[in-house]
Amino acid sequence: MKVKVLQNILDANDQIANRNRQVLDKAGVLAINIMSSPGAGKTSLILQTIARLKDKVRIAVVEGDIASTIDADRIGKEEISVVQINTGGACHLDANMVSNALDSLSLEDIDLLLIENVGNLVCPAEFKTGAHKQMMLLSIPEGDDKPYKYPLMFTESEVIILNKIDLLPLLDFDINAFRQAVTGLNPRVKIFPVSCKTGEGIEEWISWLESELRGR
Ligand code: MG
Ligand code: ZN
Repeated sequence: MKVKVLQNILDANDQIANRNRQVLDKAGVLAINIMSSPGAGKTSLILQTIARLKDKVRIAVVEGDIASTIDADRIGKEEISVVQINTGGACHLDANMVSNALDSLSLEDIDLLLIENVGNLVCPAEFKTGAHKQMMLLSIPEGDDKPYKYPLMFTESEVIILNKIDLLPLLDFDINAFRQAVTGLNPRVKIFPVSCKTGEGIEEWISWLESELRGR
């Protein structure tokens, strides 16, 4: 019975997500749903992306947070549009929350929408938002075994940003083992090893993003 209720909720969510996708497509916006556990570096990656692209790409950010506006405040300093969603305790964004955020943005004036989901490796992967790309960050201190523990997140994500590679010399993270685990679940995944702190690898991520924007 419980399973059926959850399935109905997910079906209703999918319908709203499809509508969000249509709204985004009509306005010519590329939307990326950014997921990770807390502290992996979603906000830092968004700030790095804004710093490198804001002169050529019109960017807006949707900030999902359970309660605070700390991340939205950091991004708000960048003079781009930021919409805060406080989920009121919910541990993921759903399509309806994103729909409300889209209503408050001037989508015709935006090329790229970065959606920072709530920090959690479980249910954000279950709830579609309407974004075109599912992306996740994993940071080196979290360990290379996470694809085995959270397979849905690694299966759903087309792009994985492996952040904090500046910590590799200090920690036992086996990048090859990680790659093997991920591609076993998801053969077409793109993995970008980066350090938001030192900037290493960020150019490769930005090039990929620019080619996605050109392709639209
Ligand atoms: Mg954040
Ligand atoms: Zn949740």
